[in-house]
Amino acid sequence: MLKETERILAQFGDLETDVSFRNLTTFRVGGVARHVFYPRNLFGLTSAISICRQEAIPFKVLGNGSNILPSDDDFEGLIIKLTRYFIDYYFDDEVLYAQCGCSLIALSYKAMEQSLSGLEFANGIPATLGGALFMNAGAYKCEMSDVVQEVQVLVGDDVIWLNRDQCQFSYRSSIFQRHPEWTIVSCKLKLRKGDHAVIEQLVKNRRDKRCSTQPLDFPSAGSTFRNPEGGFAWKYIDEIGYRGHQVGGAQVSTKHSNFIINTGDASAADIRSLAEEIREKVKKEFNVDLIMEVEKFNWKE
Ligand SMILES: Cc1cc2nc3c(=O)[nH]c(=O)nc-3n(C[C@H](O)[C@H](O)[C@H](O)COP(=O)(O)OP(=O)(O)OC[C@H]3O[C@@H](n4cnc5c(N)ncnc54)[C@H](O)[C@@H]3O)c2cc1C
Repeated sequence: MLKETERILAQFGDLETDVSFRNLTTFRVGGVARHVFYPRNLFGLTSAISICRQEAIPFKVLGNGSNILPSDDDFEGLIIKLTRYFIDYYFDDEVLYAQCGCSLIALSYKAMEQSLSGLEFANGIPATLGGALFMNAGAYKCEMSDVVQEVQVLVGDDVIWLNRDQCQFSYRSSIFQRHPEWTIVSCKLKLRKGDHAVIEQLVKNRRDKRCSTQPLDFPSAGSTFRNPEGGFAWKYIDEIGYRGHQVGGAQVSTKHSNFIINTGDASAADIRSLAEEIREKVKKEFNVDLIMEVEKFNWKE
């Protein structure tokens, strides 16, 4: 990026250089992002995107990086993060208005404090609101689409509102995945007044369940594969005997076999190789195509 471009961007927000993807992803792997930009407001966000388009600078909006496997290569482009300034939220009766850089876990606690039900499932998902909408994140038979009323999206230079149907949500999928050039800005979530003690208990139960079933003491990106139609990815991984299987520093968790964990010194290539080995074995033994839920980013192929 030209020095002049750096200077212009720095007027619209915080610009950081040479940031390791280890600090941008929950897998704690990957090369270096040459530039990371935290726009201060919508004007800064639109300006950054239009500069990238004009100057053919590749860019990617990242949330908490909790569903991303970056390559070990450096990324010679701009990572845009909304986690520093797009973090306002407020409640109006049963509707929660929130900007997409908000932590989903924090919003779940805030809703609980207001005795509002609907986000209990989200309490352990380490996402931003934007990343959770993009993925239609979910757990315990609930998902974001259950509570979304409208989503505000930056499409080109226009900011538009999409209602829930227009977001085309389905299992871990949304229209946003088919439009990577769009940026989710904020949304309205429709919650329901509930009994505070009941909500609190449900949140606690969900958290306890996560702690007992997921390897939360190791870096990971949550579930590696989507559950195939009518089955569970973890069962297939168990059946090929891969629980605990290791490639370099990447390991199939012994606690939850659909989690690949970074045992400390994994490279991104270790994680990818392990995931590909699993896919090949499951295909060969069961003729089932496991699809990665974790998104690969900045890989040459
Ligand atoms: C320990 C652990 C447990 C997990 N448990 C669950 C679970 O129970 N259920 C579940 O569904 N997932 C789970 N996940 C996976 C992950 O948290 C979700 O997929 C989450 O939705 C990703 O959000 P993020 O903010 O980290 O997005 P990122 O990983 O940063 O990005 C994911 C995608 O969203 C896009 N994106 C992010 N923000 C925006 C935006 N504002 N506008 C446009 N695109 C955007 C990015 O470009 C990228 O393509 C878990 C992960 C971990 C590490």
